[in-house]
Order: sequence, then structure tokens, then C-alpha cells
Amino acid sequence: MSINFSSDVPEPVLTTASFQADDATEASLRPKTLDDYAGQEKAKENLAVFIQAAKIRNEPLDHVLLHGPPGLGKTTLAGVIANEMGVNMRITSGPAIEKPGDLVALLTNLQENDILFLDEIHRLNRSVEEILYPAMEDYAIDIILGKGPSANSVRLDLPHFTLIGATTRSGQLSAPLRDRFGVTLRLELYTPAELRRIVERSAGILGVEIMPDGAEEIASRSRGTPRIANRMLRRVRDFAQVKGEGVITRDIADEALQRLDVDKAGLNHVDREMLRSIIQFYAGGPVGLEALAATINEEAVTLEDVYEPFLLQQGYMTRTMRGRCVTRKAYEHLGIPFLGQEKLEI
Ligand code: ADP
Repeated sequence: MSINFSSDVPEPVLTTASFQADDATEASLRPKTLDDYAGQEKAKENLAVFIQAAKIRNEPLDHVLLHGPPGLGKTTLAGVIANEMGVNMRITSGPAIEKPGDLVALLTNLQENDILFLDEIHRLNRSVEEILYPAMEDYAIDIILGKGPSANSVRLDLPHFTLIGATTRSGQLSAPLRDRFGVTLRLELYTPAELRRIVERSAGILGVEIMPDGAEEIASRSRGTPRIANRMLRRVRDFAQVKGEGVITRDIADEALQRLDVDKAGLNHVDREMLRSIIQFYAGGPVGLEALAATINEEAVTLEDVYEPFLLQQGYMTRTMRGRCVTRKAYEHLGIPFLGQEKLEI
């Protein structure tokens, strides 16, 4: 079974939410139960009911689609669901399944009520996707035997399973695929309080001593994303061990994060570059995503999936019909004089 965490996002910076090599230890930090899974209260409340109902009926859970920016806990939540249901989970991803036969092999090897977790489901190719339709709807696949006029279609029954699809771009899913999910949950960026709980829990697992204000500092600078919070914790721990007494305090966290180019608001150089370019080259916007991406030499998909959600949520940027605009808050953050509201088109 392949576990493929690859992504479109190449940049290895501390505040990038995509999976990187040094996140390999993150498996140990993944919560296993809904109680341990911080935040996402609305999604968790609904899931708890669906899980209980499925267990009472002794049926598999309905197919679940999880969407939201990278690093917010989609894979983790799928594991939590499997654990709470008491079933096995197989993990694969859209780009890892090259041929329909690969998916058939996966599906036919599942046990009754198992979960198949399909990451980056928007990147499945069309011929593979078509196998999923009857598999999701009728727990069956149609196999064509032979070629030409003598070809014959045989229906093969599958175990009753749950598909959990994860995507950063639900808009790219085809309608027939989207319609086959009974439950769709959108994961939101985490609040600093939720991230603080995650950082403190992770510090406990890693055996690092952390002061409440140290956890707060990391939480408030990790752009609403648990993966980034955990990664910062590991880097700050290094600083604490080398420069301090091994304890993470606010001062140690602040110094470490400054050196790692994460400012007080949790923005890194790409965020600042994005905002600065909109101001300098496009008079504050609106500017199309492609033009902006070309200006700062990043991929449009990276800007949209990784950087933009946090900048929008924090009110540094707005999205309009005609493109992206920065807000007064962005000018203030960058220390550039704001010339007036007429620049903004909201
Ligand atoms: P995604 O699949 O959305 O990219 P992951 O599920 O791989 O994100 O989560 C990245 C890391 O963040 C995990 O290793 C886990 O430790 C941590 N994490 C994510 N969500 C939570 C949460 N709600 N509570 C605690 N830790 C979390």
C-alpha cells in the first residue's frame, strides 16, 4: 500500500503547510480519538453522530469528503474515524493510482466495513474515477472481459467499505464524484487557543518542557495550521536546547521564530512578498492570481492553496470578481503608508 504525501507545493520553508521530509515523525503526534482531536467542533459533532449511528446499525459509515487547506488534519481525522469505528484504514492518493487496475486491486483487498482513504482525490484520472462510481454506490465494479464484439461485462461485488476522500480543492471534483459522498466536511483554520492545545499536547509527547506563554507564541504564529505548529515546536525545541535551559519560553520561541523568518503575525517572506507586490506593482489590486504568481515567481496553485487562505482569514487580503486586493491591514503590517479606501474594491 502506498502512502503518498506528495503535493504540488515544492517550497521547503517553515511555514509551508505541505508535508515535508522532516515531518516524518508527525505520525506519533497524530491524535487517535475524537476527544484528542482539537478544534473542528462542528465537523466532530456531526461525525460523532454518524459514527454512532453506523455502529448501531452495524453498517459502514457513509462516504466522507474532507476538504480544506493542507496540514489542517484531514489524514488525521480519517485515522480518528477508522479508530472510532474500530476498522482498518488503507491509505492511498489520487496521483498514486495510475490505472483502473490499481484501484480494482485496492478495492478487492478491503475487508467488510474497512476505510479507504484517498488523499488528493481531485487528482484521480478519469478512467480510475469511473471505477469509483459503482464501487461507492453499489459496492460493485464492472469488469470488461475480452475485446471487441465478444467483450463481456462482469459485475464483481465488493465488501461494504467507506471511502474517505481528501482534497484541498473541492471545486475541481467532478459533479458525479462529489454527489456520491454522503457526508462533506470542510476543515477550517484553527484558532490560536486550539493550536495552543495541540502544541502543548505535542510537547508532552516529544518530552519537551514548554511554558504556557511559549505555547501561545508558537500557536499564534503558525497560521492556523497544526502541521506548521508542530514543525515550529520542533525547531523551537532545538533553540531551547542549544540557547536556553531546554525549556520553551515566550522569549525563546520569539527568538527562534524570528530567526526562521516568521514575523509576529505568523507571516513569512512569501506572504509579505505577495502583499508587497500587490501594493507596489498593482496599486493595491485587484490583480489576477496568475499575474501575481508570475510577479513573485511562485506557482498560482501554491499561492491559492497554501498562502492565500491565511491571508484572507486574517484580513490582509480580499478576493473580488476582478482579482486579489490588499487591505489597509496589509499596508500597516508592511509599514507602507495607506493612501485611502478608493484603492480597495471589496
Ligand atoms: P492534512 O491531511 O490535512 O494535510 P494531517 O492530517 O496530515 O493534515 O495533519 C498534519 C499534522 O497536524 C498531523 O501530524 C497531526 O499531528 C497534526 N494535527 C492535525 N489536526 C490536528 C488536530 N485537530 N489535533 C491535533 N493535531 C492535529
